[in-house]
Amino acid sequence: MKILITGGAGFIGSHLCKRLLEEGNEVICLDNFFTGDEANIRPLLKNPKFELRRHDITSPLNIEVDQIYNLACPASPIHYQFDPVQTTKTSVYGAINVLDLAKRTKATILQASTSEVYGDPEVHPQPETYWGKVNCIGIRSCYDEGKRCAETLFFDYYRQYKTDIRVIRIFNTYGPNMHPGDGRVVSNFIVQALKNKDITIYGDGSQTRSFQYIDDLIEGMIRMMNNQEKFIGPINLGNPEEFTIKELAETVLRLIPESKSRIIYKDLPADDPRQRKPDITLAKTKLGWEPKIRLEEGLKKTIEYFRKGVKCPKKSDS
Ligand code: NAD
Ligand code: UDP
Repeated sequence: MKILITGGAGFIGSHLCKRLLEEGNEVICLDNFFTGDEANIRPLLKNPKFELRRHDITSPLNIEVDQIYNLACPASPIHYQFDPVQTTKTSVYGAINVLDLAKRTKATILQASTSEVYGDPEVHPQPETYWGKVNCIGIRSCYDEGKRCAETLFFDYYRQYKTDIRVIRIFNTYGPNMHPGDGRVVSNFIVQALKNKDITIYGDGSQTRSFQYIDDLIEGMIRMMNNQEKFIGPINLGNPEEFTIKELAETVLRLIPESKSRIIYKDLPADDPRQRKPDITLAKTKLGWEPKIRLEEGLKKTIEYFRKGVKCPKKSDS
């Protein structure tokens, strides 16, 4: 199969490119390198079935493909808030451009949506039937509302043009290939601990997230794309084990025993969701999928990855 992955040089995209190549597919990785990193896909460049295209999905594209995974969009709050207008354009114009491509080529197209469509949820855990509680004028809105509008476009192309869509809602995912300066909590805490810098908890650390290891997500994405029933979603993909941010900080410090970092508290950013945990009943039923990698195991693999790239000063260093 010939498969297009937009945002393929990013964290999730690079893992997906690798896995789909291993399965014998031809993979076209399209990226504008806003948050993506060439190093993530460098090992793939020698594979004749891999092609890299520098392109911004806010402009139309024309490629003959069988499947499209639409991942292009900065995912970390500091990056999607850097140029919020561009973030909305990436989600909305980007969705229109990839959907037009799918409509013309009759490709199956999967949208990487997000648990952010639930906003600061009043229903816990969050099932796909929950419509969410989202601020439409806040600092997270460019991302949250952009992704919500992209979902709307996917379902309208499905109803209006019979486009073969799949929509997944990804919950907080972590693992190797995250950028050390990405700004998301798992990479921040690990990099801070390895560099003996203060561990920055925003707020009092009682807010919760449910962290999914990258390999579990990739398995779920591929199952959703290829499910026999042609179930279109939306479907939650996440690990339902829920932790407070303080618990995460303490776990990271326990797994990096040589770290001299201490925990400090900073202001909680506006609209930061209080709690988040996926209801994955649908994914279990429709895809026979559930996460296998527990937090400590996934954190150990991720710490290993960052150790190679981040120099940890010795205990004797001041
Ligand atoms: P990432 O920032 O590492 O990757 C995003 C990629 O998209 C980067 O390579 C970036 O350069 C590229 N990109 C951004 N704007 C683009 C544009 N206009 N044109 C072309 N390429 C563009 O983030 P990630 O964690 O790999 O996230 C991938 C997708 O999954 C995103 O759509 C994100 O919203 C979604 N998602 C991720 C998570 C998570 O926890 N990682 C959770 C929910 C949803
Ligand atoms: N967070 C934190 N310290 C950091 C980075 C993030 O305490 O250095 C908090 C953040 O305020 C949020 C949670 O960790 O409550 C998850 O943040 P992240 O940016 O990883 O993802 P999101 O908020 O989009 O779920």
